[in-house]
Amino acid sequence: MTISYEKLLELARLDDEVAHSAELLLRSPKRKLLSELEVERSESERRLKVVDGGIGELEEESSELSSESELISKKLSELESAEKKGLGISHRNVEVLAHEIEVLHNRAEEIELRQLEIMESFEDLSAKKEELESELAELDSVFQNTKEEHDSEVIGSRSLVEGLEKERSDLVRELPDEFLPIYNKLRNAKLGRAFAYVMKGVCLGCRVKVSPLELTRLKQSKDLPPEMLPRCQECDRIMLLP
Ligand SMILES: [Zn+2]
Repeated sequence: MTISYEKLLELARLDDEVAHSAELLLRSPKRKLLSELEVERSESERRLKVVDGGIGELEEESSELSSESELISKKLSELESAEKKGLGISHRNVEVLAHEIEVLHNRAEEIELRQLEIMESFEDLSAKKEELESELAELDSVFQNTKEEHDSEVIGSRSLVEGLEKERSDLVRELPDEFLPIYNKLRNAKLGRAFAYVMKGVCLGCRVKVSPLELTRLKQSKDLPPEMLPRCQECDRIMLLP
């Protein structure tokens, strides 16, 4: 006994719906959005890391300058009290001392200016950091919402496919043993569609015109067992006339 042509048409329709459902999921705009959000997120994270690195460098420089500045004021108060007490003795020594004091004062001033610059840069970077952090939080929340919506799309599609698969398996059970491996192999190779309808002389599996000879064979094939049905010369699918 063999399966009826009507049931093969029904199997082809179910295969088509299962494949279509998987394609819809793959082409889902939410899926696309999720991957775009992931790219955007890693870019923001990269920028945040750069800003954090900048802040770290400023903090390090500032703390080095603070220690230097402490040393300078200690040294200055030593030198200035020596100057006051007239410990220089010779004229030459007084000059050397005064010069040393002047150099230290200049360096202290330099440090003070640089510290001001650092503070300004620090404020800029901190503002940038805050901006990036809120951008990331916003991206996370959009990602989370989109993911939930996409997950429910997946669940919906899965339950639809489960229903279709139940119908399919009833029909597959009726396929003749000789045909089953051909069908399964073809279905795997053709992304879920082993059959192709032929309409107006065109194979809908590959959109290629079927030769008149093949068309005649096809028209006479409805009583053949499925393993004997003609296959498209272009896409190899089993041709069916709806
Ligand atoms: Zn074809």
